[in-house]
Amino acid sequence: MSKRVYKFSEGNADMRNLLGGKGANLAEMTNIGLPIPNGFTISTEACTDYYNDGRTINEDTQKQIFEALAWLEGVQGKKFGDTENPLLVSVRSGARASMPGMMDTILNLGLNDVSVKGFAQKTGNPRFAYDSYRRFIQMFSDVVMEMSKTFFDSILEGVKKEHGYTFDTELTAEDLQDVIAQYKAIYKEKMGEEFPQDPKVQLMEAIKAVFRSWDNPRANYYRMMNDIPYSWGTAVNVGEYLINAQGEDVVAGIRTPSKITQLEKDLPECYKQFVSIADTLEKHYRDMQDMEFTIEEGKLFFLQTRNGKRTAHAAIQIACDLVDEGMITPEEAVCRIEAKSLDQLLHPVFDADALKNGQQIGEALPASPGAAAGRVYFNADDAVAAHTAGSRVILVRQETSPEDIEGMHAAEGVLTMRGGMTSHAAVVARGMGTCCVSGCGDLKVFEDEKYIELGGHKINEGDYISLDGSTGKIYLGDIKTVEASISGNFQRIMAWADAARKLKVRTNADTPEDAANAVRMGAEGIGLTRTEHMFFNPERIPKIRKMILSDTTEEREAALNELIPFQKGDFKGIYKAMEGRPVTIRFLDPPLHEFVPTEDAEIEELAKDMGLSAAEVKARCDALHEFNPMMGHRGCRLAVTFPEIARMQTRAVMEAAIEVNKEEGYSIVPEIMIPLVGDKKELAFVKKTVVETAEKVKAEMNSDIQYKVGTMIEIPRAALMADEIAEEAEFFSFGTNDLTQMTFGFSRDDAGKFLQDYYASKIYESDPFAHLDQNGVGQLIAMAAEKGRKVRPDIHLGICGEHGGDPASIEFCHKVGLDYVSCSPFRVPIARLAAAQAAIADKH
Ligand code: PEP
Ligand code: MG
Repeated sequence: MSKRVYKFSEGNADMRNLLGGKGANLAEMTNIGLPIPNGFTISTEACTDYYNDGRTINEDTQKQIFEALAWLEGVQGKKFGDTENPLLVSVRSGARASMPGMMDTILNLGLNDVSVKGFAQKTGNPRFAYDSYRRFIQMFSDVVMEMSKTFFDSILEGVKKEHGYTFDTELTAEDLQDVIAQYKAIYKEKMGEEFPQDPKVQLMEAIKAVFRSWDNPRANYYRMMNDIPYSWGTAVNVGEYLINAQGEDVVAGIRTPSKITQLEKDLPECYKQFVSIADTLEKHYRDMQDMEFTIEEGKLFFLQTRNGKRTAHAAIQIACDLVDEGMITPEEAVCRIEAKSLDQLLHPVFDADALKNGQQIGEALPASPGAAAGRVYFNADDAVAAHTAGSRVILVRQETSPEDIEGMHAAEGVLTMRGGMTSHAAVVARGMGTCCVSGCGDLKVFEDEKYIELGGHKINEGDYISLDGSTGKIYLGDIKTVEASISGNFQRIMAWADAARKLKVRTNADTPEDAANAVRMGAEGIGLTRTEHMFFNPERIPKIRKMILSDTTEEREAALNELIPFQKGDFKGIYKAMEGRPVTIRFLDPPLHEFVPTEDAEIEELAKDMGLSAAEVKARCDALHEFNPMMGHRGCRLAVTFPEIARMQTRAVMEAAIEVNKEEGYSIVPEIMIPLVGDKKELAFVKKTVVETAEKVKAEMNSDIQYKVGTMIEIPRAALMADEIAEEAEFFSFGTNDLTQMTFGFSRDDAGKFLQDYYASKIYESDPFAHLDQNGVGQLIAMAAEKGRKVRPDIHLGICGEHGGDPASIEFCHKVGLDYVSCSPFRVPIARLAAAQAAIADKH
């Protein structure tokens, strides 16, 4: 028989995986001799059994529960269902990670028509006894039998009305007996059986209900938000029920508790004891505690303690205070702060009071964090105009395209109907630190008519909406936001993190502004500059279009020559902003059709510039059409077909580096990165163009500058052939956006639409574009890293997909021994902290 039930005295704080947080802490408190009610915990393994056995509790476990119950009756000198001295218990959920209010709890269990009399007699307070029974029937019917609360509310209201009462407290014991009779009658009517009188039946049903509540929608939602695996399950704590322990009212917000100092006035002795125990607990756990207690007949009992929930700001303050008090080490302080929560410190958030009145009208993917409120505009030009005129702007699009870049820059926030976490809008917004909510399937966007429909509301151009890019929630109206504030303690924590971590942290930045911002956030280099983003600027896009639509190499080279000064200027700006830190520049990657004009006016303008007819330009655009562009003519394939593009980009990279080294006295070693490689020969082909051009530039400029040529590993074949590829590549950077897309075989731009169904059906627990699929895609990374190192032991390894800013994925990168992670500027502090936490965890 496997052990599934543990008395509180049998556990300890280290057993939270098995006993849940509440169970482990109750055990720990019991062991350090605090006044804890007696009780036992049914383990998370029993929860797993429950689901595996088709949602039933097996006989072994049931036997152990009844044995524990008999023990509890013995030590308490009370009996379940007794007429004179009945045992009452509370049945409370408690998972490994705290999930406040997400699962169910049943109190006052053990009351029935007989024991309520004993309870009344024992307490000398019949009114209280019958009120407890009434509450129990209601709670059991709601939680266990899933009957609507409204039946019970209307009965209670009816009885109050009958007697002309305003408050529940006016109900007498007799009135409550009347309520109970009516409650039982409605129960029988709706359930087709009597309200269960056998406390053992009540108990088993309640335990099942708590296990079941692990799978309720709000628990599932909370788990997804907090990356808590479904497989963990919850434990159930059964403990002696103590009078007035109606903590549920507080948790549910039905009652507003008094300040704890009130206790000093009411019950000074208890208060003194409370303060002393609270102090003991804080010292014992060496952390700020969230405690529940009750007082029975002047005697204090502690019911629960756990590390208190806190905002990121408070977490940093508490961690630094504990270090200063000598309670924890700086490394422990680093581990006390949830890396992801730093987002709260770096971006604006909604004013908490203002948000209380906010009306939520929709929800989609939290694509780029921060809170934003502004007037709705539907294209980049209108957004820019409104911004220039002094309005705060929310840019709403069906999906964003490269031309929206200026509008996104002018906007406080971006909302799109289509697109996932790695869609253009999301990636660009994160880079700029602009709030973005993407992939809102419920949103209807009428871009031409200039209005949207969402959540039953019509919102016109110029109306206000508010977006929370950290939760994905969309609100009606203008909700006040408050700016981020970074305190000195933040820098202390970061310095401790930097001292602990092994991974370097670079950034993905395409402009000197983003680069400078990233340096302020602590970036140690650039892991990815997407050169195509530089072409989205309205001044340049006509030139790149000319290049794309050129018919001959000569025409294309002429167009490229016009682009060189821009590219070189960009690179110089970036090198300068990075102040000599390493910079990896990736060559042109996206399918070319992304740049071609779609509007007639643009086509005509381009035709004029190229000396062609509009029809001719249109025909050339049409010729670029691909059925599956993400798997089409893109990445290094462009440089294979048009080596002149790689030549131009190499020249710009090299000339810029040589000039900046001279001007600033740096010794930059440019890192040229070839995207989407799948074969050694493919890389060798492009590399030859790069090396020839680089050497030519060096000779022309009389420079002996060093440079590196490497590749992205972002298609599965590259991972499989990484040993061969490493013969040509001096570094690898894992492009996990494409690697995820191509390994799963679904599009990063479209998957958002159906992934919801996958979460609902528990096929996937999280978005693989946000959290690295360590089992699948992770295998490819680990294998490629190993193969790469075998051939080239000093190969430099990094990651530049969006996972480079995700704490769990960063831990994985640490484990497989990458040299660095690269992420958008605002995620750099998160990555520094997560990298430190991974290194510290590795030591223990
Ligand atoms: C990637 O694929 O992970 C990557 C970084 O490149 P992009 O997102 O530009 O395709
Ligand atoms: Mg890619």
